[in-house]
Amino acid sequence: MAPNNVIVAEEEKSCNRRKENPEIASGRSNGHDPKKNHHRSSPSTTTTTITTTITNTDVNENVDKSAEAKKYVDGRQQDWWTFLRRDDIKWRNVILISVFHMIAVYGFLTAPYLTHWKTFIWAFLIGMAAAFGITGGIHRFWSHKAYKANTFLRIILMFCFVAAGQNSIHEWVRDHRVHHKFSETDADPHNSKRGFFFSHVGWLMMKKHPDVISKGKLIDMSDIEADPVAAFCERHFTLLKLMVCFVVPICVPVYCWDEDWYHATMFQLCRYVYVLNATWSVNSFAHFFGNKPYDRYIGPVENGFVSYVTFGEGWHNYHHTFPQDYRAAEIGGGRFNSTTTIIDLFAKLGWAYDLKEPSEQLIAKTIENRGDGTHCSSRDRNRARCE
Ligand SMILES: [Zn+2]
Ligand SMILES: [Zn+2]
Repeated sequence: MAPNNVIVAEEEKSCNRRKENPEIASGRSNGHDPKKNHHRSSPSTTTTTITTTITNTDVNENVDKSAEAKKYVDGRQQDWWTFLRRDDIKWRNVILISVFHMIAVYGFLTAPYLTHWKTFIWAFLIGMAAAFGITGGIHRFWSHKAYKANTFLRIILMFCFVAAGQNSIHEWVRDHRVHHKFSETDADPHNSKRGFFFSHVGWLMMKKHPDVISKGKLIDMSDIEADPVAAFCERHFTLLKLMVCFVVPICVPVYCWDEDWYHATMFQLCRYVYVLNATWSVNSFAHFFGNKPYDRYIGPVENGFVSYVTFGEGWHNYHHTFPQDYRAAEIGGGRFNSTTTIIDLFAKLGWAYDLKEPSEQLIAKTIENRGDGTHCSSRDRNRARCE
């Protein structure tokens, strides 16, 4: 048995040489016949005959199989290691975002909504407030200066915004202004040209493109720096975020109606992840799926689903066309836009004022000149627009 084992080992070496050297594999090496190579590596003529027989049948097949397997394994390993070696990925964010989402999905699927209804309603209300902090606060008020607000309303907006647990006021506003100014270019922090996943959440898992940083430095942030409420939020942001987004919302059910810690925490985590995804959907869904009644030359689209989950932020083709409109949409035609309703209520109280909106004529002219023809006024000019 021993000599045969040696022969088989020799044969395998020979096969490996064939894989490494295509010339050997094809029998063209040094003008030798492949069979002659086996003769040279064999200890005796008798055993060589046996080996040659094996080579002609099984080993050739083995070469093919192992070469195929190696290619497959190598291919996967290469891709995997290339991915791991990338130095533009923020692994801390990848892990945190992934873990939060896994817990939230489990929570959504297993939550006892009816038996713990008080905690569910509480999480729902915090979610509403946080969503308004994003839509009416950081987006329409701070990023676009679409209306003015007195100090009391600004404080409310700040607490609502912090409850959403996103980036700081300064970072959020700068990223959003860059997004509008350099939309769908490398300078856009969530450039949708880099794919749906990147524009939704991937951009938070990666280091910023150099253009985002360089163009971001050109953005005028003097209004944010001059706002004492925003400045206070910026100074104490980490503590505020921890307390307003997590600690207080979790503690209230425990101390006010004897909720257990598990459900108090789980409902808030689900709320947190929901508001995050609703916010991100504007950058992803509303840049991919919908029509362009106001400007067919830009990427953002009108998306009713996004408007529903974000209280009116999905009318994104309009918003990119008229970014300073406090309504972020035309009103009417059953358009869902509860953020505008809430701002209108604050305007009635006198806390919100100088609400900006373009003239009807400008909107009509823009639709005519740049729209894709899907606006209701394009289809039927006798009908009042979107009434
Ligand atoms: Zn956008
Ligand atoms: Zn905007």
